[in-house]
Amino acid sequence: MERNGKTLSKSTSGLRMIPTNELSSSPFALEEPAWIPDQQVTLCLGCQKNFDFFNRRHHCRRCGRCYCSNCCSHNLRLDRMYFIDPVKQCYECAVLSKAEEDFYSDGLTVLMNGRQFNIQDRSWDGEIPKPLGMYLCRLSPDHRMITFTPSKPLPRDALPPSLVQVTHVIDVVLKERTKEPLAGLNGLKIYYKDDVNVTVVHCIQLDPADERSQPWVRWAYKALQMTAESKNQEVHQ
Ligand SMILES: [Zn+2]
Ligand SMILES: [Zn+2]
Repeated sequence: MERNGKTLSKSTSGLRMIPTNELSSSPFALEEPAWIPDQQVTLCLGCQKNFDFFNRRHHCRRCGRCYCSNCCSHNLRLDRMYFIDPVKQCYECAVLSKAEEDFYSDGLTVLMNGRQFNIQDRSWDGEIPKPLGMYLCRLSPDHRMITFTPSKPLPRDALPPSLVQVTHVIDVVLKERTKEPLAGLNGLKIYYKDDVNVTVVHCIQLDPADERSQPWVRWAYKALQMTAESKNQEVHQ
């Protein structure tokens, strides 16, 4: 059964809606872990109690490790592995998944609604940044691109920033202002490879007077960190 590039799949861990092509896959996706085989573990990794007929093994769906029912009792959403329903997780994984629930329920909406920022551009870190003006920064509905729409018509010779392919991001840095009275978040620096494989740096600059722009920057940082985590996992497999 395939719909919108996704297909329903049942594993021992639960029901999943898995993308069947690159374009319908999420840049934040994580692979389902292989379960540690039952015979390899004699006691719970959390409370160290021995497993026996009454104290059964339970596998955490996020890390695949073995726990007793008490230590694996968190039922939480796990969108990054395409699970449809909440799944069983250990304490450590529950902390991560809880933070990601907020990302999926609030963060994505903030990112897709977009926000106006001052953009600076440069092709390597030593170069003096080129100011490019104000742009509406938005995450695309498929979560794969950050787009920049000029706030007012551009002069004819202007070079607007190219969009950022989220999966081409190499590094992302939160910039903080350290000097009072304007201490606090200053913006975001995104290092990525453009279409011709050149490393480009976009600086997304916060307006100190606009406190409401901060969530966009913080969620974008989280999104790009999650993308890096997904990419690292692909490399290691
Ligand atoms: Zn336990
Ligand atoms: Zn776990």
